[in-house]
Amino acid sequence: MQQQVNVFKFGGASLRDADAIRHVGSILERFAGKKLVIVVSAMGKTTNALEEVANSYWQGDAAEAKEKLAAIHSGATAVINNLFAEVPESLTASVNDLFVSVEWALDEAPNAEYDYDYDQIVSLGELVSSHIVAAYLNRIGLPTSWLDARDVIQTDNTYREGWVKWPETMERAERLVPPLLQQTDFVLTQGFIGNTSENYTTTLGREGSDYSAAIFSYCLDAEAMSIWKDVPGVLTADPRLFDNVTKIDRLSYKEAIEMTYYGAKVIHPKTIKPLQNKSIPLYVRSFIDPQLEGTYVTDEAGDVYPPMVAVEREQALINISTRDFSFVAEHHIRELFEHITTTRLQVNMMQNTAISFNVVVNDIDDRVERFCALIDRHFKTTVDRHLELITIRHYTPEIVDSLRRGKVNMLEGRLPLTLQMVVKDVPIMRRKEEGEILR
Ligand code: ADP
Ligand code: ASP
Ligand code: MG
Repeated sequence: MQQQVNVFKFGGASLRDADAIRHVGSILERFAGKKLVIVVSAMGKTTNALEEVANSYWQGDAAEAKEKLAAIHSGATAVINNLFAEVPESLTASVNDLFVSVEWALDEAPNAEYDYDYDQIVSLGELVSSHIVAAYLNRIGLPTSWLDARDVIQTDNTYREGWVKWPETMERAERLVPPLLQQTDFVLTQGFIGNTSENYTTTLGREGSDYSAAIFSYCLDAEAMSIWKDVPGVLTADPRLFDNVTKIDRLSYKEAIEMTYYGAKVIHPKTIKPLQNKSIPLYVRSFIDPQLEGTYVTDEAGDVYPPMVAVEREQALINISTRDFSFVAEHHIRELFEHITTTRLQVNMMQNTAISFNVVVNDIDDRVERFCALIDRHFKTTVDRHLELITIRHYTPEIVDSLRRGKVNMLEGRLPLTLQMVVKDVPIMRRKEEGEILR
């Protein structure tokens, strides 16, 4: 019987420098002989740095954009020189070509659409890292084929948030990946990027490499998918924000979706659905200590969970009322949601009174301003910004009390398993820094 494929994903933190890439190589050595599709992100914080390039370019400062790009290129070259005693010529050529193509693009006037330009520039990070890691694996005796994810993942042309065209993507994955896995046990490709029918590069949304791995897992009927992180697994809360967190050994898909949708950044929220559709288990594992078991995300329900906390920053609370003080009726809400959809606001909470409608959304770019402008003719709006949304699954009175302490509660909603509160100017980070123990 043909050996089933496993999909592994390594994120930016696990590829941040040459030593980190060597460490990834040592993890993969343990899987020699297995059929693996390996999805990689850009190295370290490269995507943020490329966003800066895109911003300078878009603001009309091509010289600054080129300077920033050159710094990223030197960083990549330093990693390559550190990794290889003798740098493979094909690697130097591929990486230089990638940088030169973006450099040339920076000489052209920006396109009418920022999001399009953004994707053409920012996708460079994954293309470069994938060439480096694939070349390194080949050098250490792990034969690996490099695959351009854009040959497989097809999307619509919603730049910066490409929507996957599943039938086209399935067909390409089934046609292109198995022959490569025949040639080499490992196939390495990029997370985060896709391709439109006109052959333009799209990205799938920030932190989207987990999702790419899930797309490959789904299309290839993977035995399991593993995402290798800098934490021991899914924890009861983000350890950067809270002390006393514990690892969850098993998690149902449903719990994972609930937590990641509301800000548990350890897994990209779109990751779970494709896996759930085919009952493909997900392992969240530590690249720091690969011996550890990690968290096993699967179909199984019925577990008893401890309270789990997710925090989403940069929330905007929009209070909307009619200009003529009439009730906010159903047809108003329909109109509001049409504009919410067109401005691509993600609504995390909502509540209404007789004459007002309150929505809490992720405050991204100028979406809130555009939304308020669109509804201005019929509605008055006030906006509170820089809020935090705290979501507690399986909440207890003690944990709710401890999380509320010292905060202004702007909006709260409770369901039997989930409590959410939107709070003002909550310096959780500062509270942690000041040594307050949060439970
Ligand atoms: P990647 O390297 O794949 O991009 P991320 O940095 O996106 O990985 O995700 C790992 C980070 O997610 C951790 O360092 C941790 O701070 C954060 N995180 C947020 N919520 C949780 C949680 N509930 N459990 C574990 N980690 C979490
Ligand atoms: N490199 C992309 C980002 O930083 C995608 C990812 O890492 O998942 O957003
Ligand atoms: Mg990430």
